[in-house]
Amino acid sequence: MGRVTRVVIIGGGPGGYESALVAAQLGAEVVVVDSDGLGGSAVLTDCVPSKTLIATAELMTDLATAPELGIGLVDHTAPASQVEVDLARVNARVLRLAAEQSSDIGRRLEREGVRVVRGRGHLDGPERVVVTGADGETETIEADAVLVATGAAPRTLPTAEPDGERILTWEQVYDLTETPEKLIVVGSGVTGAEFASAYMALGIEVVLVSSRDRVLPGEDADAAEVLEQVLTRRGMAVMNKSRMESVTREGDVVTVRLTDGRSVSGSHCLLALGSIPNTAGLGLESAGIAVDEGGFVKVDRVSRTTARGVYAAGDCTGVLMLASVAAMQGRIAMWHFLGDAVAPLDLKKVSSNVFTAPEIATVGWSQQAVDAGEIVAEAVRLPLAGNPRAKMQGVRDGFVKLFCRPGTGIVVGGVVVGPRASELIHPISIAVAESLTADQLANAFTVYPSNSGSVAEAARRLHHPKV
Ligand SMILES: Cc1cc2nc3c(=O)[nH]c(=O)nc-3n(C[C@H](O)[C@H](O)[C@H](O)COP(=O)(O)OP(=O)(O)OC[C@H]3O[C@@H](n4cnc5c(N)ncnc54)[C@H](O)[C@@H]3O)c2cc1C
Repeated sequence: MGRVTRVVIIGGGPGGYESALVAAQLGAEVVVVDSDGLGGSAVLTDCVPSKTLIATAELMTDLATAPELGIGLVDHTAPASQVEVDLARVNARVLRLAAEQSSDIGRRLEREGVRVVRGRGHLDGPERVVVTGADGETETIEADAVLVATGAAPRTLPTAEPDGERILTWEQVYDLTETPEKLIVVGSGVTGAEFASAYMALGIEVVLVSSRDRVLPGEDADAAEVLEQVLTRRGMAVMNKSRMESVTREGDVVTVRLTDGRSVSGSHCLLALGSIPNTAGLGLESAGIAVDEGGFVKVDRVSRTTARGVYAAGDCTGVLMLASVAAMQGRIAMWHFLGDAVAPLDLKKVSSNVFTAPEIATVGWSQQAVDAGEIVAEAVRLPLAGNPRAKMQGVRDGFVKLFCRPGTGIVVGGVVVGPRASELIHPISIAVAESLTADQLANAFTVYPSNSGSVAEAARRLHHPKV
């Protein structure tokens, strides 16, 4: 009998721990090297904490429609302000949930026989990982395959250094015990938009500083427009075409200066300037692993790096910075290395969501790609306001958009904007993954009344009668 295959994974986030589970299932001897806690940034500082905070924000958003739905609050003109958010309690819950999730992952790995080594790992050639523990002790682990899944960290600038008190990265906001009076969010990508939307729902005055001409420059333009309208209607100051030059603090006041000479002051500033990969000091170069100019590890669609036997997954590859994609890249790497059936990563099947109020969920080909002629597709856009369930719920903002191929009617993409859009995208996601036609999507029963009825109705509108 041959020797058991040894897999060493550097990084315990979704890219790392999900692949550890697959490798263990396929009979490998697996070691996960992790420096900051299992679950990685996804569980400890990014997805899980932010979505837990947003769960509280969602409840506050729902409360704002309470009077319209017949619930009497003391002051009908300002319903949400009658309910007070205790940010210290919210943050304590956020951190507790994240820690519990991290422990759950630890227990699961243990059950599956995965060895977890605490410390910072680096490669010593493509087949050896050296781990340095907190006490400075080192351990060298031999590997038949290595998976690099070290993630990414918030980008900061020398002119906008976080101080952890009033100038904050998204990793530091959960240490706040007092509610900010006025929060300036710099950056209107997904992270900036989500936090701006959530903190406003919690009753905080929010200014969103965006260098582009609209929020969410990377998302569907119609969806971003709806979101910007809703945010401004609810009282957010959205400063478009405003490039931040510096962020400074004097006492309790933070000031964001813009490149055009204007400035805006508040009590706190959240920097959402994107992420940089955690790839420095990993010994990548000496192991023959190529990185791009941004420091991201170059991988192919089965997660192979340029060094034989070394794979990479997740944010350190910059392929698509989502926990779900990190996990899939990691699983694909293990299936590939350990000889299981594997299909290369297909980004056109990834569904994603912006957890603002309303949410924006997307899958498949985008409007941008259709407009640029990258794919020929027909589109239909159906406002949610006409949906009976949405009317009952007092929902007016949002839409369902579907793209299908003109000849075959095969659904190739979609966008949903509305409350719980993250749940409504799934039927479209199935249609895209399985190449279903608009007719097939339309013919599946939906519940009456339901918001998913609009998905079927949009599909119905893409029907071409046989002549
Ligand atoms: C605010 C925010 C919210 C987000 N929300 C969502 C969401 O709702 N849904 C979604 O799909 N995605 C979300 N994302 C993206 C998601 O968090 C990332 O895509 C995901 O964390 C990537 O997983 P990963 O395994 O590549 O890296 P990480 O989760 O970053 O894990 C990598 C781990 O490796 C450790 N590490 C680094 N270097 C070493 C080393 N040398 N040795 C040992 N360990 C090391 C790190 O400390 C870290 O713990 C969000 C991101 C942000 C910033």
